[in-house]
Amino acid sequence: MNILFLGAPGCGKGTQSKKLIKEYGIPQISTGDLLREEIKSGSTLGEELQEIMSTGKFVSDDLVLSLVSKKITQDECKSGFILDGYPRNISQAKSLDLLFTEKNINLEYVFLIDVPFSTLIERCTGRLLCTTCDYIGNTDRGEKIGDKCEEGELYQREDDKEETVKNRLNVYKEQTAPIIEFYENKGILHKMIGGNDPDALSGKISTILKS
Ligand code: AMP
Repeated sequence: MNILFLGAPGCGKGTQSKKLIKEYGIPQISTGDLLREEIKSGSTLGEELQEIMSTGKFVSDDLVLSLVSKKITQDECKSGFILDGYPRNISQAKSLDLLFTEKNINLEYVFLIDVPFSTLIERCTGRLLCTTCDYIGNTDRGEKIGDKCEEGELYQREDDKEETVKNRLNVYKEQTAPIIEFYENKGILHKMIGGNDPDALSGKISTILKS
């Protein structure tokens, strides 16, 4: 089962991917997470990435393609995978198509999660991550930076500051939104409305996957 999530920053791609990991036992490939891991490692590449990502711009197509192609060909992805955050422009979508053809991989489902930009700004600027686990918190639930979470504590992603979120949404509109048509033409796109109920949305996604 090979699945791809499309949608603007904060639409819930990560949350829905994590639900599918639990339900189907297939791994998530999130380019944002892979890039943040590189930053955490403290490498020179990580320092360069930090600078680019803190402005909300994209990192190079070649770099993300090499990260994705390395992951997709690993044994853990043999029974399927969930792509989250890739592709993000037409050139990446075409490179991914080539990679799939080369590796004989069939992309079966593309889920687009549609959420109004005003909601996304609120969600992203309030979002808090944990330094150690996958927990995603939010200031609208009364949580704050520095709150304890299992072994870690909550922090705000550098690129979730309001100015950067607005830049990321503009980049999405200009570069990522055109991909929607690319997958629509392939007949594998499912448009979903992302509200404030992630369980209801995952129920709808499961129904499509089981049909
Ligand atoms: P995300 O966690 O998916 O919101 O990604 C965080 C940041 O990582 C983005 O704003 C980009 O700077 C970078 N990034 C993630 N995925 C890609 C991609 N496919 N192409 C280029 N840059 C990316």
